[in-house]
Amino acid sequence: MAAQRGHPEPWIAAVPGLPQEFTPPQLREQLRRRIYVAALWLGLVVLALLWLVGSTRPQSTGLQASVNALLMGTCVLALWWLRTDRPLQPIERTLYAANTVAALVQFSLTRTGTVSDAALLIASTHLLLIANAIVGYLAFRVREGALFSLGSYALAVAICTWGLSTRPDSGLMLTAVRLHVSVATLLLLVYALAWYRSSYLKISVEHELLARQALTDPLTGLPNRHATYAAIEQLLAQFRQGQPGSVILLDVDHFKAVNDTYGHPAGDRVLISLADTLRAHVDAAHTPGRWGGEEFILVLPGVDVAQATGLAERLRTHLHTTPHPDVGTVTASFGVTAPVPGDDLARLTARADQALYRAKSAGRNRVEIHHASEPLPALEAPG
Ligand code: GH3
Ligand code: MG
Ligand code: MG
Repeated sequence: MAAQRGHPEPWIAAVPGLPQEFTPPQLREQLRRRIYVAALWLGLVVLALLWLVGSTRPQSTGLQASVNALLMGTCVLALWWLRTDRPLQPIERTLYAANTVAALVQFSLTRTGTVSDAALLIASTHLLLIANAIVGYLAFRVREGALFSLGSYALAVAICTWGLSTRPDSGLMLTAVRLHVSVATLLLLVYALAWYRSSYLKISVEHELLARQALTDPLTGLPNRHATYAAIEQLLAQFRQGQPGSVILLDVDHFKAVNDTYGHPAGDRVLISLADTLRAHVDAAHTPGRWGGEEFILVLPGVDVAQATGLAERLRTHLHTTPHPDVGTVTASFGVTAPVPGDDLARLTARADQALYRAKSAGRNRVEIHHASEPLPALEAPG
């Protein structure tokens, strides 16, 4: 079984500092969903209270009630939407549009009602404008979000000025102007944060992609040698805690002849198909890697040497009996070993290499095991 899509592969878990899940540009969507659900429930409660208070007041207008109904309806729609697995963007945009309309209508209500009502309306609608700008930057690109934010702010100021223009009370206008200026400053800050967030996301996604590229073999898509070191170190750590584990090193037989006879591109296709075979034969917890050239490794935590030998034998038989469409039958030789107390990466892989060498010397297309009781081979530093 190959590693399931979306689940971190074991070698990724073993590499220090590499995020466990690849986070695409729609970063932390689940977190955003949860925040929206909480905010929408809160919004619904506030709107329901406003509606209750409004309905007891004689000066409450039909327009005000319509705005409340629009916002409550949008909240319910958004909550329903978020319960499903639908993408976030359409509902974010709908919320943004509904909030914008509500804010503008509320500013127009300053033309009627008492002074204290108008003052409260101006203050609360400015807050709505700021909250909506944040939603705007989540729903649109920074540039679009900034344009919409600027546009709705300019309209809000114009409508509010129009609303208050007929009132004799200049104090209210002054309060409104003060709020306009403070909100403009806050909107600028929200823009700066949105810009910073978008740059940060871009850089972190690029960084993650580069980190993954550096650990992936470009031809086969398997973890490269460096990445498998992390998986081997983890296997050794688990072995020290009493868990079994083993590694298989395999090398394609007479591969130079394949290249010489069928050409390098055909050789590449053989390696790609071999990588697919390895992926198909191991569990999600296991790491198949490209050790280098036409040599591959399987890092098998939780698998003892007998089971690993069985797997190597199955792989050997599969290769031997499944001709490659371009080059015909391709075989490989296998070296199997398991960690022993006091082991390290160099010793473990050197033992697997020694078993592989034995398989080659004994005629190829074979599986050989390096047992714990055998002497250690002379060590070479891993390259
Ligand atoms: P043996 O059975 O002893 O392993 O013989 P061999 O021919 O497989 O081994 P040798 O080391 O002589 O040759 C390995 C060949 O693998 C030589 C090299 O050009 C080829 N090779 C290494 N990497 C790649 C690759 O990415 N693509 C292709 N097409 N060939 C590669
Ligand atoms: Mg070879
Ligand atoms: Mg080789």
